[in-house]
Amino acid sequence: MSGTFKAILIARDADKKQSAEITELSETDLMEGDVTVSVEYTTVNYKDGLAITGKAPVVRRFPMVPGVDFAGTVLASSHPDFTIGDKVVLNGWGVGETHHGAYARRARVKGDWLIPLPAGLTERDAMALGTAGYTAMLCVMALERHGISPDRGPLVVTGAAGGVGTVAIALLSRLGYRVVASTGRTEEADFLKELGAAEIVARDELSGPAKPLAKERWAGGVDAVGSHTLANVLSMTSYGGAVAACGLAGGIDLPASVAPFILRGVSLLGIDSVMAPKTLRLEAWRRLASEIDHGKLAALSRTIGFDDIIDTANAIVEGKVRGRVVVEV
Ligand code: NDP
Repeated sequence: MSGTFKAILIARDADKKQSAEITELSETDLMEGDVTVSVEYTTVNYKDGLAITGKAPVVRRFPMVPGVDFAGTVLASSHPDFTIGDKVVLNGWGVGETHHGAYARRARVKGDWLIPLPAGLTERDAMALGTAGYTAMLCVMALERHGISPDRGPLVVTGAAGGVGTVAIALLSRLGYRVVASTGRTEEADFLKELGAAEIVARDELSGPAKPLAKERWAGGVDAVGSHTLANVLSMTSYGGAVAACGLAGGIDLPASVAPFILRGVSLLGIDSVMAPKTLRLEAWRRLASEIDHGKLAALSRTIGFDDIIDTANAIVEGKVRGRVVVEV
């Protein structure tokens, strides 16, 4: 385990201007942790795009190896749950934000942050799903806990052609929901229908200022966009419905009224993947492994090399990445 390995490092200069470049690190550069992992696959999520471009303050310690999730093999461990050779997955916990992350061939992390690679998934599958897919499943589970079921009516998925969106469509359609996909890329309509969308709604229909209440169109949904889009989704949710809000691709604000909550009993379900407790993570990953359609997962993901991460990070914040991107490290 000697020598150096490839990594992306984000640095900040005296004027707080951020830059990201590929460099070589050694194990002594890694942070504290009780498990060292050979990172074999990672991915580019929207949050990684924000981190690398510096468009939002995702990185809070410099210099930082970004990358919020990986799959790999344990190289060394003093944690009771993991031994050399174990296949593991990591999402969140501040990795890639305050603790060196996935965009390096080695990672040293807390064993408490790791979960075993779920049975039924390869390492590549795990990163084709990645944080976006795991978050989509957290949304599905939150809707279910609220009592939403396919007989209640359709569900809308916003940011449909993105990572959370594509996995959410595949999962919800498999569970028997009629899925309405909202996208700014209507040229992807056929692709979204192949994943399981029954109906396509143009992004513009939901991106203007929302009325307090609008015609009831769905029993709820998965929102990756925020801002006016989430406000419109809420205003169009039928009596007693629920919307799982996980994203801000369209904005962090929520220019909505309380009307859907107090006049239709609609619920807004907040979804956080980063600090989600381990029992919830294990359940989400177990369900992903058993419920994702592998043909659809292949259709919604593609593989890039390590040297393509920075370009892809720029593309994802511009809304130009379709589905999921897996990085072979
Ligand atoms: P992607 O970039 O893959 O997907 C986002 C999608 O949102 C795009 O594909 C696009 O879909 C749509 N979109 C992009 N820009 C705009 C815009 N300006 N207005 C309206 N729609 C837009 O990102 P991810 O799927 O990785 O993440 C989605 C969101 O979820 C992000 O905000 C991310 O930060 C958040 N997230 C939150 C997590 C949590 O723990 N809460 C975990 C994971 C992700 P289309 O082209 O179809 O319109």
